[in-house]
Amino acid sequence: MPWIKESDCVACGLCVDNCPVKAISMIEKKAIIEFEKCIRCGRCHDICPRDAVRHDGERVPEEVEENIDWVNNLMENYSTEDEKNAFIQRMKNFFNKEKKVIAETLDRLESY
Ligand code: SF4
Ligand code: SF4
Repeated sequence: MPWIKESDCVACGLCVDNCPVKAISMIEKKAIIEFEKCIRCGRCHDICPRDAVRHDGERVPEEVEENIDWVNNLMENYSTEDEKNAFIQRMKNFFNKEKKVIAETLDRLESY
């Protein structure tokens, strides 16, 4: 999934004009992708003169931090060690389930 690094976007509008499904808008002189509309064609990435359209893989550390922040915020609802331990186990179960869904999806895509 492409994303736009705001600090590198110079609002030239090339990506907006070339997106085949009109998934990119210019808001306050920065290009923004509407992820629900994006069909992952990669055209915006190829056309951007400033390399502002970035690959998804670069967001991994950021998304890990978001997950950890989420867990830490929810943890504040628990006070005893037992409650916290049970909560962490539930969160591990949740992330393991997500991992399994991704792994099985990748397996299925191998046959395409
Ligand atoms: S092509 Fe690149 S620099 Fe131009 S508006 Fe799109 S993201 Fe910004
Ligand atoms: S990847 Fe394709 S569909 Fe998605 S925002 Fe870029 S140009 Fe539009």
